[in-house]
Amino acid sequence: MPGDWSFLDSMWRWASFTTDASWTQAAGRVAIERLQADRLSRLIGWTRRHSRFYARHWGGVARRAPRLTDLPHVHKAELMASFDDWVTDAAVTREGVEEFTGDLARIGKPFLGRYAIFSSSGTTGVPGLIVHDGDALAVYDALGATRMGALAPAWNWNEPLSGHRYALIAATEGHFAGVVGWERLRALHPWFEANARVFPVTAPIREICAALDRFKPTVVASYATVLRALAHEKDAGRLALEPSVLWYGGEWLAPMARGHIERAFGCRVAGDYGASEFLNIAFECEHGALHVNDDWVVLEPVDENYAPVPPDTPSASVLLTNLANRVQPLVRYELGDSVTRVSRPCGCGRPFPVIRVDGRRDEILRLHDESGREVPVLPMALCTAVEEGTGQHRFQVVQTGPRSLRVRLEPASRSREAPARLKETLAGFLARQGLTRISLRVETGEIAAHPVSGKFRQVWREKPRHAA
Ligand SMILES: [Zn+2]
Repeated sequence: MPGDWSFLDSMWRWASFTTDASWTQAAGRVAIERLQADRLSRLIGWTRRHSRFYARHWGGVARRAPRLTDLPHVHKAELMASFDDWVTDAAVTREGVEEFTGDLARIGKPFLGRYAIFSSSGTTGVPGLIVHDGDALAVYDALGATRMGALAPAWNWNEPLSGHRYALIAATEGHFAGVVGWERLRALHPWFEANARVFPVTAPIREICAALDRFKPTVVASYATVLRALAHEKDAGRLALEPSVLWYGGEWLAPMARGHIERAFGCRVAGDYGASEFLNIAFECEHGALHVNDDWVVLEPVDENYAPVPPDTPSASVLLTNLANRVQPLVRYELGDSVTRVSRPCGCGRPFPVIRVDGRRDEILRLHDESGREVPVLPMALCTAVEEGTGQHRFQVVQTGPRSLRVRLEPASRSREAPARLKETLAGFLARQGLTRISLRVETGEIAAHPVSGKFRQVWREKPRHAA
């Protein structure tokens, strides 16, 4: 059917990449590294031949067998500015993609009958439009089906006999990866279509709860903060939902918050790490470690000067190379997250390296100490300190200036001392980072979605308004 996905084509690719992904996992570390090197050299060759942008960008680099680190990194802004030269299919134009994503009725439908488009919101200041081809989509599906360790019993979305019902609570007012991915699977698999539903995250939490209790899903996927809000409703007796697995992605989940959610629902919380640029970068195993699918994606944690950081050190940013997607190559693309390579092997024995993700870089606060020196503050550290010091889970921290934070606390506990206690805890935590006399404004009120991404973020920086 024109304007729809080809079921046979998708299943054929899916089957072939699923076999490949299972084989790779069994083959071990040496085989994975050989496979990665081979895919990388073919990607670099293809990209230089077919992408005018990269041909120019790599002009000064020796043509024969360059190492990945010989190639200059790229930023979203420069790629988006050269969109029509970046893509390797002349039928794909920025104008055409923008027209397509301007129509919300086309969410989950194929662009030109064969591509998926994910728009990434402008949390880094530049909205991105990422085009994925059929092979890339089949690789993401295959990785989801074979590698989701802790979720394996539940994540067989193409398995009618599992008896599962799937709910995704996500931003739906745009072609975002989460909703597009689900709507695409719904369009391809009639069984999934009947047993999976997407709920807009922008609805009031009470409405979301009522809709979930009507649908009765066994698997619920959303952002970490939404799961925390649901756990809060469950504790308060306003949600009957009894899922067998909760899945989170896109945000970091603090250990205490995870414990709270698992206790509230009496079930396992599992997650993965993905982006609009590569859907399943890493998956969580049953030990709670994030393993990178590095047979299909290369991550390079780097410091402020784009030099590699040693293991067990949080990076300032991370460069991503997508080995699966040819239509819009991403080679040493700055993703922006802080990633730590963990040197200690995971007890599960999987041959994929372990990372920790400390949140999107823009969520890392950059405060100034009294001498004007910039001090980065990791959101995970800050949230853990606040949670452990106050027992509060429902709060948001916004950096409003170089030496000022605004904290919004949901008035759930009705405790009059809560704001003062939070302020004291936060001041103590900041002092330990060398940040004294930071202005802290604590207000009470409902926590709100991020004004740009529509996601519930716990920590972010307010962008200064630039003059035109
Ligand atoms: Zn593991």
